[in-house]
Amino acid sequence: MADDANPFESLQEQIDDASAYLDVAPDVLNRLKHPERVLETNLTVEMDDGSLEVFRAFRSQFNGDRGPYKGGIRYHPGVTRDEVKALSGWMVYKCAVVDIPYGGGKGGIVVDPKALSDGELERLTRSFAKELRPIIGENRDIPAPDVNTGQREMNWIKDTYETLENTTAPGVITGKAIDSGGSQGRVEATGRSTMLTAREAFDYLGRDLPGASVAVQGFGNAGSVAARLLQEDHDATIVAVSDSSGAVFCPEGFDVAALKEYKNETGSLTGYDGATREMTNEDLLTLDVDLLIPAALENAIDGQLAHDVRADVIVEAANGPLTPDADEVLTEKDVHVFPDILANAGGVTVSYFEWVQNRQRFYWTEERVNEELERRIVEAFEALVDAYEAKELPNFRTAAYVVAIERVVDAYLEGGTWP
Ligand code: NAD
Repeated sequence: MADDANPFESLQEQIDDASAYLDVAPDVLNRLKHPERVLETNLTVEMDDGSLEVFRAFRSQFNGDRGPYKGGIRYHPGVTRDEVKALSGWMVYKCAVVDIPYGGGKGGIVVDPKALSDGELERLTRSFAKELRPIIGENRDIPAPDVNTGQREMNWIKDTYETLENTTAPGVITGKAIDSGGSQGRVEATGRSTMLTAREAFDYLGRDLPGASVAVQGFGNAGSVAARLLQEDHDATIVAVSDSSGAVFCPEGFDVAALKEYKNETGSLTGYDGATREMTNEDLLTLDVDLLIPAALENAIDGQLAHDVRADVIVEAANGPLTPDADEVLTEKDVHVFPDILANAGGVTVSYFEWVQNRQRFYWTEERVNEELERRIVEAFEALVDAYEAKELPNFRTAAYVVAIERVVDAYLEGGTWP
């Protein structure tokens, strides 16, 4: 893993790459390479033993030309200001690719959540919510879950916000539990969009998904759902999966639901007796498979590792799993990469549906959520392929950025500059 690659620089390079194919003035484009503002704060939390600890936290509001800032909150020891800025930028383009009326934002706390008790995590989350309160809101900035956060944290943030504001505003945050105003289908949405992107990609490339061999790096919310839906709905053969403890391999294919149960029980994939062997994450990323799904963290594949990648198709469930160097190498090798801002956009799309339901106080069935999601992802895939073919673009990531940047720039130019 290329830990030293700066994700913010990767984002800026991706925009530069796309700009060569866009008729956008450099000064207009330049403002799309920097966040509008970043909140940096130090949260003081009382630990269970009575001592005080300070945790650094960020919220980046990258661009609001198309609507309220939107994006998750990550808890991880590796969170940095630049990582949060990059993730918030990717949200702008992700929301534009699937054409939902949001800008982009992202937040993060530098913390290893596994080292904290539930009570400490709640106090930390409520402390962050208190800091966020002046800058978030149903029409302003709408956070959501990301790595190591989920319904529980979202419910705490909603409750803190509503208590301090003396109101009810379930649309201030998405990814909530159903009883707190969450949407049906939200938990599975990210993995579902990865599955739908893979389905459309295989169809477009004229390949068969049933029986295709698949390796998935990262077996959390995004990776495990994508793997399960690819197996259950399309008969794909999931030959390898991994988490931070390492990878397991089975050439006949895993029963993904059983593997997930094992991971839930033991906390890791290693030691699973349905595997023929264990391997490193690097081994998994260079397996000779029909489809590779990076679903862990950014920069999983750098330029050097990309030379060893043997998959024909990559569908990115994680945000930013390939460095720009890796992209270049894979484009040269004719590996088809279907980018994160399409393939994991299911999470934010169903977040949008959740917010719509919250605003209307009228809730949809899971069937309706999944149908609307499928429609959005298929339409976005078609727009991307149209741009790829019409402008003879080098790869699908550039196509996604071209489509997204055009939409954001149009919104900006229509509104004009003030003051
Ligand atoms: P998660 O915390 O549920 O899962 C992350 C998984 O990655 C875990 O299985 C973890 O063990 C594994 N992992 C961590 N470091 C690893 C490493 N070095 N090698 C292999 N595996 C490693 O997180 P998630 O929600 O599934 O998010 C995964 C990615 O998907 C992130 O990039 C996130 O930004 C992106 N994403 C998630 C959502 C969502 O709704 N959950 C939406 C859009 C994008």
